Parts: sequence; C-alpha cells; structure tokens
Amino acid sequence: MDKTVAFFVPTLLYFALFILNGFLPGHWVKGYITKPDSTEKMTYRLNGIVVFLVAVMVWYLLGRFDLISYDWLYRYRWFELSGAFTFGIFFSLAVVIPYPSVKKSFWTDFYLGRIENLQFWNGRIDAKMWLYLVGAITLELNTLSFAAHHWMVYGAQASQGIYLTAILLTYFVIDYMTFEEVHLYTYDLFAERVGFKLGWGCLVFYPYFYAISLWSTINLPNPNTPHWLLGIYVLIFFVGWGLSRGANMQKYFFKKNPEKAFLGIVPETITDGNNQLLVNGFWGISRHVNYLGEILMGTGIILCTGYPTLIWPWLYPLYYVVLLFPRQIDDDKRCVLKYGELWDEYKQKVPYRIIPFIY
Ligand code: NDP
Repeated sequence: MDKTVAFFVPTLLYFALFILNGFLPGHWVKGYITKPDSTEKMTYRLNGIVVFLVAVMVWYLLGRFDLISYDWLYRYRWFELSGAFTFGIFFSLAVVIPYPSVKKSFWTDFYLGRIENLQFWNGRIDAKMWLYLVGAITLELNTLSFAAHHWMVYGAQASQGIYLTAILLTYFVIDYMTFEEVHLYTYDLFAERVGFKLGWGCLVFYPYFYAISLWSTINLPNPNTPHWLLGIYVLIFFVGWGLSRGANMQKYFFKKNPEKAFLGIVPETITDGNNQLLVNGFWGISRHVNYLGEILMGTGIILCTGYPTLIWPWLYPLYYVVLLFPRQIDDDKRCVLKYGELWDEYKQKVPYRIIPFIY
C-alpha cells in the first residue's frame, strides 16, 4: 500500500505546490523578457519562500505528530522517483502537444518545447517559475528526509559531514528562493521553451539527482572527516556561492539600472551606442564566472559527505560541467548575434570563458 502511495506522492505534492503557489500571498514583479509582439515586460507573481516555509513546516509537523515518519521519503524514494518520472513524461506531453510545432521533428519539439512562456490564472502562476519551485522544494524535502534517515540509523555515531551536506543543500535552495526574482533574468527564462528538458528536468532530475550526494552516502558509516577539512569544503562552497551570487546580482542590478553600483563596484561598460556590456567586477573576471561558482558549490557540497573517492557524489558537480560548458558556448553564439562587434570587443577585454587564466 505504502509503495503505491509513494508512487503518487510526487503528483500529489506537485499539485499541492501548484495550489500554494497560486493562493499564498505573493508579490508581483516585472520580469526581464517582453510579452510576445509587445515591448511590455512580462509580469510574475512570486512567493517561493512562503511556499517553501509552508512545505517544510508540514513535513516537520507530520513527523512531529508521528503521522508520517521523518525519513518516509527516503524509505520509498525509488517508488517516488518512478512516480515523478511518469508524471514528468505526462507533463511534458501536456505542455507540448497542444501548441503549434516550431521544429521539423516532433521529438525535438517534445524535448525542447514549443511554447516559450506559459502562465495560468491571469499570470498568478508561471509554468517555468512553478517548475523551479517544485524542483527546489522537493529537493529540500528529500534532503531533510535523507538526513533524518541517517540520524535515525546512526544516532550519536552520525556523520557531521552528512549534516553539513544537508545544510549546504538547504542553503542552496533557500538562496534560490530568496533571490527568486533574479532568476527571471537568466537563460532559462529568456532562451528556453517549456518541454521535456525543462519540465522533466525540474520535476524529476532536479529533486532526485541533486540529492545524489546524500542518497549514495547516508547508509555509510561516519568517515570522521577532520573538522579543518570540513572547514575547507565549506569554504569551497562559499567561494563558489560568492562568485555565482555575486555575478548574478551584479548583472541583475545593472539590467535594472545601468548606473547603480553593486557592493561598491561602479559599473564599467563598453557600448556601441545601442547596447552595453559590463566589463568589470565579476563580469571582468571571466565571461561566465557564475558557472565556475556553481561548479565549486557542487564540489563543496559533495566533499562534505566525507567520501571523496566514491564516484556517485562526484556526478553532481560533473553534471554542472556537462550542462554549463556547452551552455556557455550556446550563450556565446546568442550574444554574437545580439551584440555583434561589441561582443568581440568584450571577448578581447575579458578573454576567459569560465575559469580565469585557464579556460
Ligand atoms: P548568465 O546569468 O550568465 O546569463 C547570460 C546572459 O547575460 C547573456 O545571454 C547576456 O544576456 C547577459 N550578459 C552576458 N555577459 C554580459 C555582460 N558582460 N554584461 C551584461 N550582460 C551580459 O547565465 P545563465 O542564465 O545561464 O545562468 C544564471 C545562473 O544560474 C548562473 O549562476 C548559473 O550558474 C545558474 N544555473 C544554475 C543551475 C542549477 O541547476 N543550479 C542550472 C543552470 C544555471 P542579455 O541578452 O540579456 O544581455
């Protein structure tokens, strides 16, 4: 019985998050991209952090009153994963089939999507932002449940590194929720359509694969990683966070107001009269130092588990390499088209793509 319930848990959870996203208080913001055939900006209603707090509170109360064990999501993870997988397929078909084709092959359309922006309830819910919300909150519930399982199995012998991994993943999720509006200025929002890649990616891959460091290590004994080494791993995470968050915030403030300083960094730019590009601060280190930051964050998270020779946790930062290195190349092509010679000038001023002095 529990296994059948577990299969449907992701569908129920995603539906509940849809309702919470639509009903809980939120604030309206103007986004970065414009509405189709218009110069007016898209609007969004954001309330990720409120939905997150409610979801975590419900998880806590269910465990506190012995209604559902804290580690239930861990114990039935394979059934939930298969339920999420199935839902992800149906979701992808539902957001692709009704819309006109954009590519020659149905399967390309299915993978990349047809519609660019999909909103419900007069814009109260944006499909892309809801997908990211679902992915982040389900990842958090998995993280808490996995860490709880470790605590239940090992008690006083539990690994501090496992708790640190869970804390850093939680930090990663809360950071996203806190700066949800900044996400409106990213590639996914302005360059991607809603299809299998984004839909299945957020409903299945994000919440389950991102937890792989815990998934693969919580049943292992405490490796007793020395505190100083854990300190270095946490430092790697926060250096990465500083680069990633710093670059994203600098660009966000710049796009909103090109004169405005960020962290005391007054924007220095190059311009062709129509467009301008930042060339200092984080955007003077490399053309995508935020991607380097993301990879460092992932590395810090998985190292904290204390099993640096185990392959499974490494798949997480490796995935970022596989995702972000080609994305940098795609984004570069897009920017060549958009900025023309100005982009060449930027490349001369900031020659490194991602890793300063190396790549
Ligand atoms: P960026 O935020 O780097 O956005 C690239 C765009 O920024 C370009 O297309 C261009 O858009 C603009 N731009 C580039 N250079 C400049 C410049 N010098 N001055 C002004 N504008 C510039 O990339 P992403 O949207 O891909 O990533 C955003 C964040 O999301 C990153 O931190 C990334 O690591 C993170 N991320 C996280 C993932 C996760 O799973 N955790 C997955 C993917 C990304 P425009 O045309 O608007 O000027």
